[in-house]
Amino acid sequence: MSYRLTPRVQLRSSPATFSKAFSVYRGEPPRLVVAMAAEDITRLTILSLSMSTTVSPLSVSMEIPAYGATAAKAPLEPLKIERRKPGPHDVEIEILYCGICHSDVHKVNDDWGGTHFPVVPGHEIVGRVASRGAGATRFQEGDLVGVGCLVDSCRVCPECRAGHEMFCEKGVTFTFDSFDRNTKTWTYGGYSTDIVVDERYVLRVPNGLDPVRAAPLMCAGITTYSPLHQFGCKPGDQVAVVGLGGLGHMVVKLAASMRADVTVLSTSRDKEKDASRLGAKHFVATKELGALEALQGRFSLIMDTVSAAHDLNKQLTLLRNFGTMVLVGLPPSGAQLDAFTLVHGNRRIAGSNIGGIPETQEMLDYCGKNGIVADVEVIKADQINDAYKRMERGDVRYRFVIDAASLRA
Ligand code: NAP
Ligand code: ZN
Ligand code: ZN
Repeated sequence: MSYRLTPRVQLRSSPATFSKAFSVYRGEPPRLVVAMAAEDITRLTILSLSMSTTVSPLSVSMEIPAYGATAAKAPLEPLKIERRKPGPHDVEIEILYCGICHSDVHKVNDDWGGTHFPVVPGHEIVGRVASRGAGATRFQEGDLVGVGCLVDSCRVCPECRAGHEMFCEKGVTFTFDSFDRNTKTWTYGGYSTDIVVDERYVLRVPNGLDPVRAAPLMCAGITTYSPLHQFGCKPGDQVAVVGLGGLGHMVVKLAASMRADVTVLSTSRDKEKDASRLGAKHFVATKELGALEALQGRFSLIMDTVSAAHDLNKQLTLLRNFGTMVLVGLPPSGAQLDAFTLVHGNRRIAGSNIGGIPETQEMLDYCGKNGIVADVEVIKADQINDAYKRMERGDVRYRFVIDAASLRA
């Protein structure tokens, strides 16, 4: 077995002498497999410098603390993960905060199938730029930045050019549990102390936004802002939000800021006072007898953010003619749709998937101008498992955010 740095250079150490695996590259040029003893690090660095055209700058990595799950539904626990050293266009971000999205919970539970373990979730990241590659010019050390659901894409396909990187024709790289075409490894998310990201996928956090309360904007913010725009939310519109959790409370804040008339549909009355404080004009407890019947034909837009299977047909009857119900929630099991309910009234049903990088920056700037941030409950890493349990029973007010300092302790 040989350990190749480039087609021209061989490291002759035997595998037995290698005390630590740094990075494994299985792709075509530069084909680089590095598993080196500590004494080889300097040599690798020198080789990288002298052969910069053939050796990827991603060839050396660093080990950092993280929190993740090693099997489906297993509790999250402290782990060590590898991050690449910043390449020429990368920024290294010292993570300050990371929000917990219900998608993290679905992934750890393997609700959607296909989760690769160990999984380190987290795609609502805010931090400070700690260092950057020589060609990274968009940010300075110390800048407050964000990373959302995407960390790479092909950049040249029509979807990437249109700023819809989540639909990259070559396959988008999500922030966690996604195959990284460069490193040929699975990505690890923001439940960690540092992350290295190409600056093209890094977002600027506007001045004046509280970093901890801005973190959830990176997913919950864009996932709700994007459909409100796509479906033309405007002053005076009757907008309903189903489920008052992380995404739901952002719908209320954003739609209210667009001067829509917002109604919250929640499973119980527990969140009624909060709904009004967040900007909703009306509140309906959906399990109360006759509650939905009284709302038939009322809304031009319904935003469904529910994380569990539920009846969509009853909700569809609440749409006015030509109204749209947008699904952003991703329950594990499918839903039955009644054609008659849709056809009668030309009702529409749609979906919306996060948002691309330009729109995410637009959303952050909008939130900066309008002072919109999430309502958060800040937790330490060792409280993540409790937070997951609370989210699974709808007990979230309205986003748990991990203080990354607790991972450094
Ligand atoms: P969350 O904070 O846990 O909120 C979900 C809310 O749904 C709960 O607070 C609860 O609200 C309601 N709910 C839960 N179980 C319910 C049930 N059985 N019946 C009716 N209502 C129920 O979750 P989130 O982070 O906002 O995420 C919501 C969903 O969106 C998840 O499925 C997530 O994966 C998905 N998501 C999608 C995208 C996208 O790009 N489309 C992006 C991010 C997340 P009440 O207490 O008010 O009833
Ligand atoms: Zn999310
Ligand atoms: Zn692309």
